[in-house]
Amino acid sequence: MNAPRRIAVVGAGLAAVSTCDALRAHGYDGDLVLYSAERGLPYDRPPLSKNVLLGKDRREDVLLRPEQWYDDQRVRLREGTVVQAIRPRPGGVELADGVIEPADRIVLATGGTPRTLPVPGGADPEILLLRTWEDAQLLRERLLPGARVAVVGAGLIGAETAAVATTLGCRVTLVDPVGVPLAPVVGDDIATALHDRHRAEGIDVVTAAVDRVERRGRRFLIGLSGYGGTVAADTIVVGIGIRPATQPAEAAGLRVDDGVLVDADRRTSHPAVHAVGDVAREAGRRTRHEHWEAAQRDGDAAARGILGLPATDPVAPWFWSDRHGTRLEAIGTMAEAERTVLRGAVDSGAFLALGLRGERVVAAAAIDRTRDIRTVRRIIDRRVTVDPSALADESTDLRSMLTR
Ligand SMILES: Cc1cc2nc3c(=O)[nH]c(=O)nc-3n(C[C@H](O)[C@H](O)[C@H](O)COP(=O)(O)OP(=O)(O)OC[C@H]3O[C@@H](n4cnc5c(N)ncnc54)[C@H](O)[C@@H]3O)c2cc1C
Repeated sequence: MNAPRRIAVVGAGLAAVSTCDALRAHGYDGDLVLYSAERGLPYDRPPLSKNVLLGKDRREDVLLRPEQWYDDQRVRLREGTVVQAIRPRPGGVELADGVIEPADRIVLATGGTPRTLPVPGGADPEILLLRTWEDAQLLRERLLPGARVAVVGAGLIGAETAAVATTLGCRVTLVDPVGVPLAPVVGDDIATALHDRHRAEGIDVVTAAVDRVERRGRRFLIGLSGYGGTVAADTIVVGIGIRPATQPAEAAGLRVDDGVLVDADRRTSHPAVHAVGDVAREAGRRTRHEHWEAAQRDGDAAARGILGLPATDPVAPWFWSDRHGTRLEAIGTMAEAERTVLRGAVDSGAFLALGLRGERVVAAAAIDRTRDIRTVRRIIDRRVTVDPSALADESTDLRSMLTR
């Protein structure tokens, strides 16, 4: 395909901004238009469930790029402009008023929308979700000392929200049908330590599925199956995952299956359309990587693909999550491991779980062990063979395994 003259990037989250950044860094000199359904300068989402909820970060603290960057990089930001449809052939994006703006490449970076509870009463607009700046402001107003807050879903965002609400003096109930949430992602040991910590911090942890939500005036009653009771709450916030925003891709006939399917270059089933970030799923992988770093790396991969540059070597995916003053980090895919080796004492609160397949580390998760996680990532990416007993032995420096 010829070098593009105009690229339309649909969405203006991290994946979109990273794509623009990478296109310019790799020498793309043509037009770049960023279509954003939201108003204002694009912002980062991880602080929403952390410092923004705590009231420590303002909007200007969480911008993805300063205003000047858009001028410097010649990125035309179209705020509050929803792309209704994409027209890969002859090439353009259709806006709400029916106008088609031309583009010879399209990058879909539309992210996703939070799932609502699929039970009677579950779609009540007073039940809060957390994805946007506005969602975070609404939730923050409700996190008053003494308020009864029910958090449904103890995954990453639910756990962080429960922790912040506790810090702000709310009486928090955390509801999840799974006894030890996150175990498939971080392994049993880390998942158990994380979940136990909620209880230690005074959160009422309930293992049950929500089967209905009823309004009682301005309050809620949550019905729970298999629990023999209900939970009363002033505020409910739901964190049970997202639905990838695939509608424009589906309507254009692109291959979609729990995300827009892409190859390693983030190219979709249409050669002029790429997809990046939370909305994309690499064909052959079981899940989408709904994490910050994956969105950023996708931008670079798509830019290289569009410009015909060689791809970089793949790296193990990484994410972090902050709760109760501790940091969880994980790399790789724990489900691929045959067994787990622990490094560090579980009671110390700061330890590492390494997932092994044969003599290779394929995944790791850690609480408050950032330096080790960095080293383990290199061990995974370089496919180093390891001695499992040395991994477990704290007196063996993990870095020494890289030099063998
Ligand atoms: C509260 C919260 C906390 C998080 N914390 C962490 C964390 O601690 N660690 C971590 O690794 N990850 C974290 N993440 C995940 C990480 O932020 C996401 O993976 C990342 O933001 C995905 O970026 P994206 O650009 O793919 O999608 P998004 O950031 O969702 O951006 C998509 C944008 O596209 C816009 N859009 C959609 N459709 C259209 C359309 N048709 N036309 C125009 N615009 C459109 C949307 O309005 C949105 O602005 C967190 C996410 C949230 C929500």
